[in-house]
Amino acid sequence: MQIENNRVVSFHYSVTDGDGGAIDSSRGRDEPLHALVGHGGLIPGLEKALLGRSAGERFEVDVAPEDAYGPRRDAHFQRVPKKYFRDGERLRPGMTTMLALKEGGQRMVTVRKVGSSIIDVDLNHPLAGKALHFDVEIVAVREAQAEEIAHGHVHGPQGHEHA
Ligand code: ZN
Repeated sequence: MQIENNRVVSFHYSVTDGDGGAIDSSRGRDEPLHALVGHGGLIPGLEKALLGRSAGERFEVDVAPEDAYGPRRDAHFQRVPKKYFRDGERLRPGMTTMLALKEGGQRMVTVRKVGSSIIDVDLNHPLAGKALHFDVEIVAVREAQAEEIAHGHVHGPQGHEHA
């Protein structure tokens, strides 16, 4: 079965930046990454490279910043009241954390400065502006369930668990 929209792909990956520095890897974890294709859960450049492939294939792909986490924007800072952070009391400059957005969803930000009630964050994703190199091994491909397609994410023990 080939990878296409509304199918669930399971794959192992290692990702490095343009200089070969390791960023993340699923290898060594028990489970590969499970992703629903065509619903924004994967960065565009990686998803494009996965389409049309099937289980057992291994490949490497270079992804430009525009097809990964976007270009890095200068002075993309925001002052946010500490109470909006789940983990506000333990945050220190240089740490990354998830910030809930008014319009829904959340975004990864980097802490720049911590005051008594305000935290200054850099809204750039930590990987913004970086070219990424992926080494991918496809483990399995299956049809998504109707409910997964409606929700836009993978269900099950390794996916989204609904309470
Ligand atoms: Zn769901």
